[in-house]
Amino acid sequence: MNKERIIGRYEGEKGGPLLVVLGGMHGNEPAGIKAIDLMCKMLEVEPITNPSFHFKGTFMGLIGNLQAVKANKRFIKKDLNRQWEVDNVNRVMNADISSLKAEDLEMREILDVLHQEIKEHDVKKLVVLDLHTTSSFGGIFTIPSSDPESLRIALELHAPVVQDMLEGIHGTTLHYFITENMGVDTVGVTFESGQHNEELSVNRAIAAITNCMRSISMVEADHVENRHDTILIEYSKDLPKVTRMISRYGVTEEDRFRMLNGYENFQAVKKGELLAEDKKGKIYASDDALILMPLYQEQGEDGFFLIQKIEGF
Ligand SMILES: [Zn+2]
Repeated sequence: MNKERIIGRYEGEKGGPLLVVLGGMHGNEPAGIKAIDLMCKMLEVEPITNPSFHFKGTFMGLIGNLQAVKANKRFIKKDLNRQWEVDNVNRVMNADISSLKAEDLEMREILDVLHQEIKEHDVKKLVVLDLHTTSSFGGIFTIPSSDPESLRIALELHAPVVQDMLEGIHGTTLHYFITENMGVDTVGVTFESGQHNEELSVNRAIAAITNCMRSISMVEADHVENRHDTILIEYSKDLPKVTRMISRYGVTEEDRFRMLNGYENFQAVKKGELLAEDKKGKIYASDDALILMPLYQEQGEDGFFLIQKIEGF
């Protein structure tokens, strides 16, 4: 097991959940790792500077795709955030670890750390917050799973929530980190904190971690300073509070997909609007919608997503 995978671990009072925050599940997304590292440092000093600080449970920060982070690539052989299908996980968990390479080894090490932690510390509740960033600018958002508790936490992160994302894709951490697969009460949430290399993507990820800790009662609202939260609230004020995914445009390397320049997350598009091109020709918007995660990087299987606002939130 590579010790570098564990960014930090902070153990508070007993009786709280285990919060596992994943950064760098994609190797070209350093913001989450930086945020986790800073959060670990803040947790160490908080009890000294703030005597009323109480922390219930355990915080653990892990690097997702360590080999890809070191190579400064999105992934080595395959997208690690598309490998979490139960059959694939079982294959990896039953294999001899010395035979595993690239993303298979990454997945195995992450799960070995988690299962060891759950067993050694008798964890009753596991919360997984998976931190990501996007190649495009202009939007931060939270992706809940279909679990109502995931939606509840997502809303408390103070960023736009995009529902039904999991219906368009397979094998993400959100698909896998559920009670049935982990053997303890488990809930997962994914947070996208902005563009890959924006400095503020780190601050927003810190705010999301703090809000997540509050939402699961690890910390009390007035016990932890959260100046970064203002950044999230300010940034999200003109964005729709809850949306849902209506379509995904999937791409393969052979497609030679090219997104037209200038699209940002949550930008409105009109039905029939030219969005991208590939070797087969022009690609138009199928509906009046908002665009999400337009692809502006070489590796990736999602060309773009279209989402629509849900009223009533
Ligand atoms: Zn990512």
